Amino acid sequence: MKRGALPPGFEYVDCNLCGADAARPFTRRQGADVVACGACGLIYVNPRPDPARLAQHYNSDESSRAQYYLDVEPADRRSFTLLLERLERLRPERGDLLDVGPNVGTLLTLAVERGWRGRGVELNADAARLCRERRGLDVVTGVLEPGRFEPRSFDVVVLADVIEHLSDPLSVARVVHDVLRPEGVLVVSTPDISGWAARALQVKPDEHLYYFTPETLRKLLERAGFEWRACESFDRWHNLTAMTHSTTCGGLLPRLGPLFRVARRLLGDVVVRLPLRENLLAFARRPV
Ligand SMILES: [Zn+2]
Repeated sequence: MKRGALPPGFEYVDCNLCGADAARPFTRRQGADVVACGACGLIYVNPRPDPARLAQHYNSDESSRAQYYLDVEPADRRSFTLLLERLERLRPERGDLLDVGPNVGTLLTLAVERGWRGRGVELNADAARLCRERRGLDVVTGVLEPGRFEPRSFDVVVLADVIEHLSDPLSVARVVHDVLRPEGVLVVSTPDISGWAARALQVKPDEHLYYFTPETLRKLLERAGFEWRACESFDRWHNLTAMTHSTTCGGLLPRLGPLFRVARRLLGDVVVRLPLRENLLAFARRPV
C-alpha cells in the first residue's frame, strides 16, 4: 500500500533510521505490511496506525494489559534480575535509574530493592496508577518527550521491551541521550528479528512497529549519539501457566484461557527459560 491510498487512522512513514523511502516487503501479518528498508535494513510496519490511534490502543487495555504483567510477574522478576545483574557488571555503583514503560513496575521494584533510585514514565494510565498506589513507585503518566525530565538527571535508562512499540524510536533515543548524565548507560531489550524465534513469535504489527537486529539497533543508537558497548542474546523466563493474556501466537493463547486457569490451579506458576535466542540485550553509553 502506498501513500495516498490509506484508510483513516493510518499513516505512511519513511525509514526512522536513515530517512529513506525505499521499503521492500519483509512479511505480512495480521493484515499489515512489515517492510525492510532497502537502504539501511531497518524492519518496520508500514503503513501503520497514526499517533492518535496508537495512544488509544495503549490506553484501551487492548494490549500490554496490566493483568498480563501481574500474571507473568514471577517469570519477569527472574528475567529482569538477569538484566539488572548484567547492567551492574557494567556499572556497579547504584544511581538514578529511569524505566521507560514500566507497566506494572516489576523491573522498577526490583531495581529499587537492589539499591537504585528508580523512576518511571508510563503511557498506560491504569498501570502508572498501579505503580504509584500499590507499589509506592515514582512513576508519572505519559511518554518520554523533551522536557519530561531535567537534562543529565539519570545514570541509567532502561527500555525493556519498549523500543519496538515506539512510533519514533530515533527521537526517543535522542531524548534518552539528553536525560542521561555523561557516561550514563542505556539498556535496551527487544526481540531479535535476525533469529527464527522472533520471526515466528514476535511479529505483531498491532503493537510491535519496529523489528531490530543487533546491526540496526547499533546504527540507530549511534545516530542518537551513543557509544555501542555490548550486545548479547537474552532469553526471557516465561510463565507457562499464565499465558492467558499473551498476544503471542496470533491471539491463540487467550482462547485457551480456561485451560491455563486449571493448569495454574493445579501446578502453580510454571516458570521456564527456553534457549530460543528470541531477544537481544544491548548496552550503550552516552559519551563524556
Ligand atoms: Zn533505512
